[in-house]
Amino acid sequence: MKNYAAFGRAFLMDVFGKYYKEKLCFVLMLPQNHFLFGLIASIVLYFEFNVSLIGCFIFLVASVVIDVDHYLYYVYRKRDWSLRKAVSWFMGKRRISMKMSREEKCGFYSGFYFLHGIEVLILVGLLGYFVWNLFYFVAAGFLFHLILDWIDQMLTSGKMSKYFVVWDYFNLRKLKFIGK
Ligand SMILES: [Zn+2]
Repeated sequence: MKNYAAFGRAFLMDVFGKYYKEKLCFVLMLPQNHFLFGLIASIVLYFEFNVSLIGCFIFLVASVVIDVDHYLYYVYRKRDWSLRKAVSWFMGKRRISMKMSREEKCGFYSGFYFLHGIEVLILVGLLGYFVWNLFYFVAAGFLFHLILDWIDQMLTSGKMSKYFVVWDYFNLRKLKFIGK
């Protein structure tokens, strides 16, 4: 799996290298950026691919709301429901990791995110097939979000996380936690 990541990173650096700045990709994972990219994608889906308005809306909401697992991780870990504190908790970790080298970053984790994985995409896709086809748009929104997270990750640390929830669950135990 490591080889694929190295190949993916080399490819992205080739394509985006000229435009790429360390800071730019660090902001990729923030919710407002996910919203912005999701909005652009929804507009393209609506005008270019004739996707229904409700479909585009669900896609957009899903592409941002998937990060609710970050907040829930904070609630679980700190036994606290404050969204404001959760955001500053994660921002603190981001600041710490920004000072680390690529190699160092790979030895740390900031949390376990149970919606960030291909298993979830499959489950939501099955809901689309068996329950209600609007779930397909949820799956598409999740996938779009994950792709942005994967790109961000490849450019910043090259870490192999957020691909499979189960894999992360076992792998994170071997890493050190960033901050407290
Ligand atoms: Zn995310």
